[in-house]
Amino acid sequence: MTEYKEIATPSRTKEILKQHGFSFKKSLGQNFLTEPNILRKIVETAGIDRQTNVIEVGPGIGALTEQLAKNAAQVLTFEIDDRLIPVLEDTLSPYSNVTVVHKDVLKADLITTTKDVFKEELPIKVVANLPYYITTPIMMHFLESDLEVSEMIVMMQKEVADRISAKPSTKAYGSLSIAVQYFMEASIAFIVPKTVFIPQPNVDSAIIKLTKRDKPAVDVTNEKEFFKLTKASFQLRRKTLWNNLTHSYGKDETTKELLTKSLTEAEIDPSRRGETLSLEEFARLSNQLEKNRSL
Ligand code: SAM
Repeated sequence: MTEYKEIATPSRTKEILKQHGFSFKKSLGQNFLTEPNILRKIVETAGIDRQTNVIEVGPGIGALTEQLAKNAAQVLTFEIDDRLIPVLEDTLSPYSNVTVVHKDVLKADLITTTKDVFKEELPIKVVANLPYYITTPIMMHFLESDLEVSEMIVMMQKEVADRISAKPSTKAYGSLSIAVQYFMEASIAFIVPKTVFIPQPNVDSAIIKLTKRDKPAVDVTNEKEFFKLTKASFQLRRKTLWNNLTHSYGKDETTKELLTKSLTEAEIDPSRRGETLSLEEFARLSNQLEKNRSL
């Protein structure tokens, strides 16, 4: 059997880039991983086996894709950059269980594509070294789709990973923490230094592990209202909840009455700041607003 050198070593990466005359596009968040041990640690953290189908976003030259292919049932990967498609055809040729889809992942219909590609209905995990300029839109694209994803193990800027996994009353806590933690349990698995990428980004990265909850973290009567409320509560940082809510919902008497009644019934002091409220408190307030609006 032919022995293949791993794609992710610094020397093989440079060789592939040179062979294909590839130049990085900063605008596409292209920072390639060149440390096989980190890739193995990602696959280990994700707990991937032949009973798991994997979706990857942004394979680059296939460094992580290769490790996923060696362990998973099938790998479906989305790459936006047409210059990388022939490179991937070459580097991933030993792996028959990989499908590269040349598409902007944000424009992909995840349900249809997975149905077309995955031969067996197995648990799906998302594993990726995300392009940093669109980390949040990609996360939301997966969370808001109806695709059943059991876990997401994704690399992103450490600062964004801190925000996603933040607890109430910390500096990093905000509407992104709530949007993700509503659906998934979030924890930082490990930190990745910027030195293992070509080209080197300006900041360190983190691998975040998100595990789908059996049901959302809190009971809300109207999810749209709940997310609108949490976004509104963080619009003006360092301002009170009351300032934020009147800023977003309106300052007229009817709105103020609705807000006052709902805050009182939810037992939440309007002089608190949004960042001190737990998911439960936001749910209570959202449910009261919903109830009082329909009175
Ligand atoms: N997985 C590779 C690795 O770890 O070395 C590359 C990761 S690099 C941080 C991000 C990759 O995402 C690049 O290959 C880039 O071209 C691709 N990309 C950027 N925007 C994308 C989008 N909207 N849809 C799909 N891929 C995208």
